[in-house]
Amino acid sequence: MKETLRILVVDDDELDRRTVYLALTQAGVKIELSEVSDAKTAISILRNTTYDCVFLDDRLPDQDGLSLIKKLRASEIKVPLVVITDQGDEHIVVELMKAGATDYLVKSRLSSITLTQVLRHAMRINQVEMQAALAHQQLKESHEQLLRKNQELEKQRQQIQLQNLKLLEVSQLKSQFLATMSHELRTPMNAIIGFAQILLRPKFGKLTYQQADMVERILNNGKHLLMLVNEVLDFAKLEEGRLALQPELFDLAKVTNTAVGEMRSLAEAKKLSLVLKIDTANTVVFNDPVRVKQILLNLLSNAIKFTESGNICVELQELGDNRVAIAVRDTGIGISSQDSQHIFEAFRQLDQTITRKYPGTGLGLAIINSLVQMMGGKIFLESQVGVGSVFRIELPRRISLSPSNKTSGAVQFDSPGIFSVVQTTRSQNSETRI
Ligand code: ADP
Repeated sequence: MKETLRILVVDDDELDRRTVYLALTQAGVKIELSEVSDAKTAISILRNTTYDCVFLDDRLPDQDGLSLIKKLRASEIKVPLVVITDQGDEHIVVELMKAGATDYLVKSRLSSITLTQVLRHAMRINQVEMQAALAHQQLKESHEQLLRKNQELEKQRQQIQLQNLKLLEVSQLKSQFLATMSHELRTPMNAIIGFAQILLRPKFGKLTYQQADMVERILNNGKHLLMLVNEVLDFAKLEEGRLALQPELFDLAKVTNTAVGEMRSLAEAKKLSLVLKIDTANTVVFNDPVRVKQILLNLLSNAIKFTESGNICVELQELGDNRVAIAVRDTGIGISSQDSQHIFEAFRQLDQTITRKYPGTGLGLAIINSLVQMMGGKIFLESQVGVGSVFRIELPRRISLSPSNKTSGAVQFDSPGIFSVVQTTRSQNSETRI
């Protein structure tokens, strides 16, 4: 026990107050005793002064001990309260304890020993109760803090949701705008191309060499522009999920041969050899021939664009499991493993400076990626900077048109400089590597 305890005795009998004082001092407890003889004074003194323990008579002249205890506890006075009662009636004791008494002592058993025991016990209980109350208060505060945080988080979540909705709306507007603009641009472009072709026909009169050269330029630039507009239109349609494949049975070798033929003059202009190798007996597939050709033209045009010398080779291969592979191999500038992670993203070009050497929209591979996914296929890329690249597309011989067969891309690396890009199918939820 600490040095001097501040004790308050509330009792109208002076003899009883003296007894408490003597019993405690005889037990060697150092006390500073205050005495009051009625409940009213007790309440007012306890509101302003702190005591280590209060001993109170259960029968005071102005009110009984039970109502005094109730009042004190109702006023949040936390001091240990020990009731000194005449009789040890169990019922009364229970009521007192329920009202907030810390302990009780029957007058007839009052002695130095019992009083110190009860005092110690009451102080310990009070200390434990205070600690529990403090812990409870802290818990309550942290609970309230958590509630506040939760409310803030919920507010933020709702704001993010709202932003997402706005973004989605803007993205849809953008796609719609792209689709409308591309569509509107196609009509005049087709007229320009058509009239340029007519002008070049001899039956409309012979053009001078210079005139023919200019009209040819109009024609070539018109075709190029139309190709760019078509790319933007395809991309907008793919983004909106409006592009549908039109599958039919066709000869893949024939379509590949046509695509190679269309790109030959471009390859020759750069003195690149362009070879087609067909390594499969059965070249019939069920797919969209227009879209397959589009993929081939895009890969070939990239291969020619990014190759300064050497050769470009297109290979058709038979794979097990009723699948076929189309590979476009070049000896061009190659792509680093870091860059390979981005080239399938829309508008991604490795040289995005205004003065870049290689023109283009940066949409080609994004469109190929989406088309291959729609066809249930996979794209693999192997490349080494300064050596060349191979884009290999594996497709089912017969595509199925389940709308859930949408896929997303992932990139895996074999070794620095040589890597493969692997497409994963969401429905399969697995990755396949070459
Ligand atoms: P674009 O060709 O219109 O720029 P693509 O989506 O077809 O757009 O290609 C994206 C980028 O990927 C290209 O800008 C280029 O940096 C890179 N790339 C594509 N194909 C090749 C290739 N065969 N060799 C080297 N880099 C390539």
